[in-house]
Amino acid sequence: MDTKTMLAVLKEKPAPGVTIKHVAIAEPKDEEVLVKVRHASICGTDIGIYNWIPWAQAHITPPQIMGHEMVGEIIKINTKEKTDLKVGDLVSSETHIFCNNCYQCEIKNYHICENMELFGIGRDGGFAEYATIPIRTTWKNDPAISVESMSVQEPLGNAVNVVTKAEVKGKKVLIMGLGPTGLCAGMVARAYGATEIVGVNRREYRRKLAMEIGFDRVTDKIDEKEYGTFDAVLEMSGNRIGIEIALDAVRIGGKIIAFGIPKESINIDWGKYLINKEISIGSVFGRMIWDTWEDTTKLLVDRKVDLEKIITHRFKLSEFEKAMEVMKSGECGKVVLTP
Ligand SMILES: [Zn+2]
Ligand SMILES: [Zn+2]
Repeated sequence: MDTKTMLAVLKEKPAPGVTIKHVAIAEPKDEEVLVKVRHASICGTDIGIYNWIPWAQAHITPPQIMGHEMVGEIIKINTKEKTDLKVGDLVSSETHIFCNNCYQCEIKNYHICENMELFGIGRDGGFAEYATIPIRTTWKNDPAISVESMSVQEPLGNAVNVVTKAEVKGKKVLIMGLGPTGLCAGMVARAYGATEIVGVNRREYRRKLAMEIGFDRVTDKIDEKEYGTFDAVLEMSGNRIGIEIALDAVRIGGKIIAFGIPKESINIDWGKYLINKEISIGSVFGRMIWDTWEDTTKLLVDRKVDLEKIITHRFKLSEFEKAMEVMKSGECGKVVLTP
């Protein structure tokens, strides 16, 4: 390294906005790697952090480097253990940094660890020229995957976990919400043998994108005539109306997988839906570590899913404010940053 500082996007103050400035390059602590970031992608969560919504206020202690979806090249490994990682490897970080010490970790549910720390939220993340990642949450990428796509595996991984739980093979599937994870869910549902994939979003931009990547049909509203006809509904919107429609749209005995997080408390008619319709509702919070990453890799390497198709905008890290404007407009798929 010829320089001791790096450009980074920081949540520096407990207020809306970010600071883009040079800060010291972190040294990898015990059992961490230092990577030179190649790409990072902006997540919906980052909009909330930028806007400083209550959730962000509860989870972030400024100053904090933002960004949890990234790919970087290992330049330093600080470990006393044996590791498969080596300098030069292209790695990504799993966002859910597990403790390896609680009951959930013991039963291998690392992604819902009771003491979870979030990369780029509870500790410094990847919107910077360099980043440190704990070795236990470092994922070594398959070099057959495009480097840009490596930075977008988090939403794809979420989609893989959602679609796997929904068991879509041979099924008619409804996807509520066509943000990046909803769009990925469409591609994964296709790869996993869904017979019909319908997407719902109020934005025309997102509906168009969904059609381009292989949805069978898109709409801004499901016709009531179609209520009760979907075998599986993937609730990716986190929107109250979206959730209500999911409950009506799913067929008797069908399945809903919840992924989108509502900003408000949701009331559901327990008797009408859960009992009388005998539907099952499952949920997904993140990716199974590392099963989902392995499935995600397979989809990318076999070219069953092409993440390049949902990357619609690219910016330099220094242009973060411009990138955030695009994110906030909603007229985009994935927005990728390059230091
Ligand atoms: Zn994310
Ligand atoms: Zn744990």
